[in-house]
Amino acid sequence: MSKDNSKKKGIYIHIPFCKYICSYCDFNKFYIQHQPVDEYIDILIIELDTIIDTNNIETVYIGGGTPSALSDDQLIRLLIAVNKKVTVNKLKEFSFEANPEDLTIDRVNILKRYGVNRVSMGVQTLNNKILEVIGRGHKKDDVKKAITNLKNVNINNINVDLMFALPGQTVEDLCDSMETIVSYGINHISCYSLILEQRTKLYNQVKSKHIILPTNEVEEQMYDLTINYLNKQGFIQYEISNFSKQGSESIHNSNYWLNYEYYGIGAGAHGYIDGIRYSNHGPVKFYIDSIVKKGNARRVENKVTEKEKIEEHFFLGLRLLKGVDLDIVDNKYNINSRELYKKSIDKNISAGYLKLENNILSLTRKGLFYGNDVFADFLIID
Ligand code: SF4
Repeated sequence: MSKDNSKKKGIYIHIPFCKYICSYCDFNKFYIQHQPVDEYIDILIIELDTIIDTNNIETVYIGGGTPSALSDDQLIRLLIAVNKKVTVNKLKEFSFEANPEDLTIDRVNILKRYGVNRVSMGVQTLNNKILEVIGRGHKKDDVKKAITNLKNVNINNINVDLMFALPGQTVEDLCDSMETIVSYGINHISCYSLILEQRTKLYNQVKSKHIILPTNEVEEQMYDLTINYLNKQGFIQYEISNFSKQGSESIHNSNYWLNYEYYGIGAGAHGYIDGIRYSNHGPVKFYIDSIVKKGNARRVENKVTEKEKIEEHFFLGLRLLKGVDLDIVDNKYNINSRELYKKSIDKNISAGYLKLENNILSLTRKGLFYGNDVFADFLIID
């Protein structure tokens, strides 16, 4: 079997620190105060240096947590290390996640100086009241200032993360946020529905009935509205939650969905290299100790079997609106996917969640909302 996806690779770098903890968040993150952030950056740079072959690296993505929670010195140290490792002006994309209130003019100048060419901002909503309820540290005005600062240094590849089905959020709130964000002239919007995760403050607030979330029906209505509105504004939906102006799709994230390989660097980061999926130790101390003692931070490593590769091809590829080309899958894995997945395909076509046209299997408009149920049906090869 051919060694697929061996060419294009990305590097994901995780900064697990935040200046505040949002009530809904279950990412691998820690409140930044009293954390060994300087030491973490030193260790991160050591782990970055374990990447030997950087010839095929086409994207770098610094995410979190909150990378913009780093001090200027820490950030510069990290960006210099990335610049030493890869020729950043040859990258197709160099992304940096930030919270709006951190994107001062000085800060965006640093990003520009070290080659960052795409910034992804966690905004969630522009309703100040809801921002307070979910524990965010910015206000509506910070978002406009941040975008203006980015554009002033010519970083025009800007994503804004929005959320729907937030506590107290109405359809009108969502419309207001989208309209205002679109009026700021950005080229990418990711719009996610709130997932209520256990072990979050919000989960307890909802369980104890201190907070009531919008119903499923309202959530579906909001998703529908998001798609309709953004389409009308010239944003193309290319993934379940992602919308971009023509040619501005996130290359790094698209490569995940296309199942290309990538290095995961940092505490709790996941990677997929040489056919092995791995995840690093999540707690900062474990991560640091592991790199110091063993030279790597891997907590789990799994060689992906041929069967898993096929499953991944489907459940990642189906997230993309362009769908999965069954002929390509069949040739690549030497299978007959229509036979192998006959039950799943028939069932989801009958339910109106999937369509099969010219051998391309893709989610229907209705199926977009129920994507997770559909993907589960593609994890069943015996
Ligand atoms: S949502 Fe982002 S800023 Fe908020 S706690 Fe989670 S990682 Fe930190």
